[in-house]
Amino acid sequence: MHVRNGEIVAVGREIGAPGVQVIVADDMIVLPGLIETHWHMWNTLFRSFSGDEQAHGYFPTVARYGANMTPEDMYHGTRLAAAEALNSGMTTVHDWCHNIRSREFAERDLAALTEAGIRARFSYGWAQGQDDKDPLNIADIEALHRDWSKHSNDGLITLGLGWRGMFRAGPLPENVYRTEFEAARTMGIPITVHIASRKTPPNQIEAHAKAKLLGKDVQLVHAVWANPDEIAMIRDAGATISLATSSDMRIGFGLPPVTEFLAAGIACGVSVDTSALIGNSSLFGVLRDVRDAENARTLNEFALTARRVLELGTIEGARSLGIDDKVGSLRPGKRADIIMVNTRALNMGGFVDPAHLLVGSALPENVDTVIIDGRILKQSGKLTALSTSQVVAEARSAWKACGSVRTGGRLVHFAHPVLRGYC
Ligand SMILES: [Zn+2]
Repeated sequence: MHVRNGEIVAVGREIGAPGVQVIVADDMIVLPGLIETHWHMWNTLFRSFSGDEQAHGYFPTVARYGANMTPEDMYHGTRLAAAEALNSGMTTVHDWCHNIRSREFAERDLAALTEAGIRARFSYGWAQGQDDKDPLNIADIEALHRDWSKHSNDGLITLGLGWRGMFRAGPLPENVYRTEFEAARTMGIPITVHIASRKTPPNQIEAHAKAKLLGKDVQLVHAVWANPDEIAMIRDAGATISLATSSDMRIGFGLPPVTEFLAAGIACGVSVDTSALIGNSSLFGVLRDVRDAENARTLNEFALTARRVLELGTIEGARSLGIDDKVGSLRPGKRADIIMVNTRALNMGGFVDPAHLLVGSALPENVDTVIIDGRILKQSGKLTALSTSQVVAEARSAWKACGSVRTGGRLVHFAHPVLRGYC
């Protein structure tokens, strides 16, 4: 493969490119960088916080600590997530940022993505604890959109809307969901929404379709309880899906009808959703979960093949985000988002089928090289632009601070029982 100025210009066995820097890929599997399609990166700070009883479940935990966060905490949470993403071979993430408490929260979160050098969609969402009757600060999103060139890291980061849709704990007022939706349409930015993750209220997707709130620019996240009529509505609207099978299983939402989505021709990406629930944010692990859960749901060993699920983690993920003209495959004309996976490790020995090896066996430490837009961000198994020890140490300081109660700027006590032992 020949890369020039961040673009793939040739792929083949014999390429004439004298005088270029050569990266030797002996015993490596070279593939498009993995594409993640919905991740609350900021709350990576709360990895392992989701406890074993209602009071410490994911939603109350994230709401409680999210309200305690400062813009710097957002930066540290998202930088930790971005470092983990690069380390495990993700070259694109969808930073689903739903704790924007002021402009500074958005800016510090974006600074973390920029520092990491990762390709991302940044979806501007609400603040944890915000009343569903309160609309988003649309003027702030519009201002960010106007100044986007300052935040886009030379086009690597794009802006979207993290929308609440028509339902959360209960229905949202129409003036809230419609105003936000139409503002995004006016700006021409894509929309993403959690939908039908729970069984009730039923027919959430149908409600959005009837209200004319689906479209090519709308990505539906979870969609576990999509019924056959609704799957047809998603297809007809040209909307896409972000599967969150790993977190769906962990939190008990159920299993999404992946085979039915794919049979309808709907673009489906895969997602981490949140490290607070799924723990380890390896997209290889997520891909395996998607395949294995779908095979279990359909009682069929062959429902989802390794090759097909690998496509969900690459080109289909790109389609789900509407960027398949740029990334997701290794073809001339595409941006150079490339990873190399080492097959010399103990867990990779016995190499016959690359797709099976990647989905079934690969771990983040097997990712040798990560290239984004032609820039090398992991080489010989080490991140090049970020210090792993610094990222972890500073994230730890941040979670110690926001895991406690702030009173007048003073830390009073750790509210989470798990944390008490560490203070
Ligand atoms: Zn989510």
